[in-house]
Amino acid sequence: MPDATRGAVRALTTAQLKATGTDHIVVNTLHLLLSPGPERVAELGGIKKLMNYEGTALSDSGGYQVFSLLHSKKWQGKITKFGAVFKSPKDGRKHELTPEKSIEVQMMLDTDVMVVLDDCRDSNVSKKEAEIAVEWTLDWADKAKRHFLKLGLDKKGKLLSCVVQGARFPELREFCMKELIKIGFDGYNYGGVGGYVVDNKGELALPEMKVIAEMVPKGKFLYAMGVGRPQDIEFANREMGWNVFDTVIPTRNARHGTLYCATEPDGILRITRSRFAKDLLPIEKGCDCEACVNYSRAYIHHLLRNGEMTGMTLATIHNLRFYQRLMTSLGGNS
Ligand SMILES: [Zn+2]
Repeated sequence: MPDATRGAVRALTTAQLKATGTDHIVVNTLHLLLSPGPERVAELGGIKKLMNYEGTALSDSGGYQVFSLLHSKKWQGKITKFGAVFKSPKDGRKHELTPEKSIEVQMMLDTDVMVVLDDCRDSNVSKKEAEIAVEWTLDWADKAKRHFLKLGLDKKGKLLSCVVQGARFPELREFCMKELIKIGFDGYNYGGVGGYVVDNKGELALPEMKVIAEMVPKGKFLYAMGVGRPQDIEFANREMGWNVFDTVIPTRNARHGTLYCATEPDGILRITRSRFAKDLLPIEKGCDCEACVNYSRAYIHHLLRNGEMTGMTLATIHNLRFYQRLMTSLGGNS
């Protein structure tokens, strides 16, 4: 799932997005909460209707960013066992993000898959701090699930996923997962650490992901939040069964000229390098995307070197198509 932060994948129209084969996106609850506000989105028929998008949309809880902004003291506010209270840097308005409020905002956005609010902290926290994060995460997951049912969202076909916390302590992740399974969710998400799934030797760098994957109940999805390099996705899926991913990597890299290409030795083509200035080949031979079918490396090189928006659009189209082909090769996209 690429990030359609405010209801758009940057530089693409919804039709262009669809043409890349992308039928799952993530929208950012915090950004939409601050502007234009969930009430406005609801009034306009929900984020999918507003985008004229027919695929599946997932919204995050809004917590991840609020917490990191508050922890780093970039924003004013505080975090308690009830949730977070913060001031919008946009207009100074006070906002509250509780487990119940997060579900309500996501309901107003009218997304298909929702995520419960969790207590996400830095990956290098002490065990004591990680234990508190797990305790609060479990309490909030329980409250969010109750609210989800109270609002009848399950009957409307919405799915609810939770976040397994526990930092770098596999036994805490195991405990958290066990308790979350008791509450019962449609999906179980790995969150809070980020980073790479595989190290330079191609081995698993985050063993706690394996702990979670081995415990997941049958028929439920495993969502690795923010996991996004092709090799990480491939490893997490083939070796452990993780099957949902969201990442800014293909879109952000595209805008900076880093393109994915199976025929390059390391799988990456840096299109703004001078060696592509007169290269009339497509970005990736055999790719069926709009950029590769119609244009040369030289053209996209020229556009990106001069900051032309169309260059960013074409580069984003190619990278998303590359990722969707990767997902199809893993048996995904269903
Ligand atoms: Zn292409």
